[in-house]
Amino acid sequence: MTSHAPKIWHNGNIIPWENATVHVMSHGLHYGSGVFEGIKCYEGAKTTLIFRLKDHIDRLFQSAKIHNIEIPFSKIELVEACKELIIINKIKSGYIRPIAFYGYDTLGVHPKSCPVETSIAVFNWGEYLGEGALKKGVKITISPWRKFHSSSFPTVAKASGQYLNSMLAAKDAKEKGFDEALLLNHEGTIAEGAGQNIFIVKNNHIYTNTEQASILMGITRETVIDIAKLEGIPVLFEALSLGQLFSADEAFFTGTASEVTPIREVDGRIINNGKPGPITKILQKKYLDLVKGKSKEFKSWLTDVNL
Ligand code: PMP
Repeated sequence: MTSHAPKIWHNGNIIPWENATVHVMSHGLHYGSGVFEGIKCYEGAKTTLIFRLKDHIDRLFQSAKIHNIEIPFSKIELVEACKELIIINKIKSGYIRPIAFYGYDTLGVHPKSCPVETSIAVFNWGEYLGEGALKKGVKITISPWRKFHSSSFPTVAKASGQYLNSMLAAKDAKEKGFDEALLLNHEGTIAEGAGQNIFIVKNNHIYTNTEQASILMGITRETVIDIAKLEGIPVLFEALSLGQLFSADEAFFTGTASEVTPIREVDGRIINNGKPGPITKILQKKYLDLVKGKSKEFKSWLTDVNL
């Protein structure tokens, strides 16, 4: 099990993990009516560094706006709460999970006056796709489940209920012995992993898809695009076909938890002799250096927390 820290921030108070409970009739539990974020922090030279905290809190509020959920705290209050929680729990590196969801008032689908509960928890979390995934790369499968279309759900929001789609895909992949699932969208082009965006490399160019492919606009995706541009690697945006993936020189996933994870095999088709490719390795190293405060560039993306 993922090891959690002893204290949770809940509706403005820091309370013990054990006491952070909600009623079983909470609207969010029945209908998935919540929005959340996943943020990582890393051990810096002397402090804990939270990566793109403000951008994640901005996306939380964007998701809430899309679903018309009114978070009863300001962005600044949640930013400060994340920092406070890191200090109180003495977290050197880990994962931060803010969530805002409807509590109990009614069981009707329309939430009427359900209160919005807001919580933040922190965890120690190792490599999301398994030990060694960053170094060796992962084996993935094309999911029989399609990514929901942006006309059914706003894919740019990170909302709780929509993750049943990812869960179906991830469970199917694990049951079949793969590390992760890759979902196609309703157009039949590539959407994304169950919890990651995807890039392919061909002839020293990087390709990734856009909002039109029904994807979450990942913050890691955006970071890697900026790193690639700085490295002088051209980035092209287009709908990606399975043919492009199968014939790619390299492929990799990006995500807060997955960081930059090489893809070494897709349904038995080997990519780059089954090894992480050179461009993937450069981007992975630059990304990990950046989040750990070892890079000169993009310093403003790091929030320093003194434990
Ligand atoms: N797509 C999905 C479905 C995700 O759950 C995630 C993880 N948040 C991502 C992409 C990557 O987003 P980010 O880089 O912002 O973590």
